[in-house]
Amino acid sequence: MSEASPIPPSPKEDPGAPAGGFVQSEEIDTEDIPETDIVFECPHCSKSLSIDQRGAGLVIRCTQCGEPVTVPIPEGMEIEDFDATPEQLSAQLLQTRQALAKALKQSDELASQLAAAIAERDILRKAAKRREQVAAPFRASMAKAVRESELALATLREVAASAAEMFAPPSSEKKGDAPAP
Ligand SMILES: [Zn+2]
Repeated sequence: MSEASPIPPSPKEDPGAPAGGFVQSEEIDTEDIPETDIVFECPHCSKSLSIDQRGAGLVIRCTQCGEPVTVPIPEGMEIEDFDATPEQLSAQLLQTRQALAKALKQSDELASQLAAAIAERDILRKAAKRREQVAAPFRASMAKAVRESELALATLREVAASAAEMFAPPSSEKKGDAPAP
C-alpha cells in the first residue's frame, strides 16, 4: 500500500496479468478508469485493482490471484450512498415498464402484419390454383386444335399436290414458243 492516489494498474507492470477467465470484466476494467472508480490493492497479492464505485462493499475476485477481496468503501462515504433511492428505483421501474409496453405493442403490430401477409399469400395461392384448374383444359383443347389443324393442312397440301399433278399440262418444253411482247 505505497500509494493512495488512483493510479490505473498498468499491464506492463504486471507481466503475470490474469487470463481473465475468472474475472468479471464488468466489475474490473484495467484500461479506462473513470475518476469515480475505487482503486485499491489486493490484500493477498498487492495487485492494483479498480472497480466502479457502485461496487463498494462488494466481494469480488482478484484479477491476479483469484482470491475474494472486499472492495473498500471510500472515505467519507456510506454504503447507502451507492444505492439508488426508492424514487430512482421506481422511476427506473416505470421506464422499464413503459419500454416493455412499447415492445409488446410493436410485437402485436408485427404479429398482425404477419397474419395479414399470410392471409394474402393464401388467397394468392388459391387464385393461382384456380387459374391453373381453368387453364389446364383450355391448354389441352388448344393443343388438340393445333394438332388437328396441322393434320388438316397436311391433307390439304396432299390434295392440292395431287390436283396440280392431275391438271398440269403435259410437261413439254415450250422454248421459243412464247410470243414476243
Ligand atoms: Zn490478488
